Amino acid sequence: MSTAFVTHSDCLKHDMGAHHPECPERLDAIEDQLIASGIGQHLARHEAPLATDEQLARVHPIDYVKAIRQVAPQSGTVHLDPDTAMNPHSLNAALRAAGAAVFAVDLVMKNQIRSAFCAVRPPGHHACRARPMGFCIFNNVAVAARHAIHVHGLERVAIIDFDVHHGNGTEDIFGNDPHVLMASTFQHPFYPYCGTEDPAPNMVNVPLAAGAGSREFREAVREAWVPALEEFRPELILFSAGFDAHVEDDMAMLRFSDADYGWVTQQIKAVADRHSKGRMVSMLEGGYSLSALGRSAVQHIKVLAGLDA
Ligand SMILES: [Zn+2]
Repeated sequence: MSTAFVTHSDCLKHDMGAHHPECPERLDAIEDQLIASGIGQHLARHEAPLATDEQLARVHPIDYVKAIRQVAPQSGTVHLDPDTAMNPHSLNAALRAAGAAVFAVDLVMKNQIRSAFCAVRPPGHHACRARPMGFCIFNNVAVAARHAIHVHGLERVAIIDFDVHHGNGTEDIFGNDPHVLMASTFQHPFYPYCGTEDPAPNMVNVPLAAGAGSREFREAVREAWVPALEEFRPELILFSAGFDAHVEDDMAMLRFSDADYGWVTQQIKAVADRHSKGRMVSMLEGGYSLSALGRSAVQHIKVLAGLDA
């Protein structure tokens, strides 16, 4: 088996309240589609370990990590921002989400597998260096990138972010970092209302207007992302894989299809095969229409695992 599926039951216990769109059922939706599609049996399943403070502190100030540990409730719910809350299971879920990122990087760097998908929550790409935000507590993809650089000695890591929201946390962490190239598309103007004004040179940000769909997305990937990636020659490619730009997702107003998620993964896989020994690690971010999320994630995973041929 060449592709790992990393998850943990703690990620199902993080619950921000009834009617919160970032809900435990999101992971069930992906699992259901893995079974329905027959893809699940071709993946090597792993349980995500807990991230350590040392791993988190490569991205977040240690005082921030300690503050999150401190504020985590024993009972009830604590709000970190208007959209982001912790219940008694959230701390472990957040540590598993970041721990999955580290674990998956270790697997691909040790050549035990070629690629991995981490079905974890809370998501991470809005978490800034010292601020939780937009359903995110620790920046999982950033923890993965720093682990690859610091522990495995990589010089160039690319982060691909196709979530409908701009990964402002990831940009906050890696803006002007020569070891990281971030390529993203996002609806603009839209939450979190940034990413377009004077981005750092290592940020390939492509804003898309409300209503944009496959054509505009694929044009951005072909004309902006791929040339920048070819020049950068990443040794590892990470995904912030959010599926909320899907036409069926009410969170925003882009119009991507299931097939777009397979297609973009093929384009990036071709880059990974040329420059990165095929190494790809994908972290779940958004995606709130449960059916579209499950189908789109499976399109993405199918290509990661080379099961699309
Ligand atoms: Zn999103």
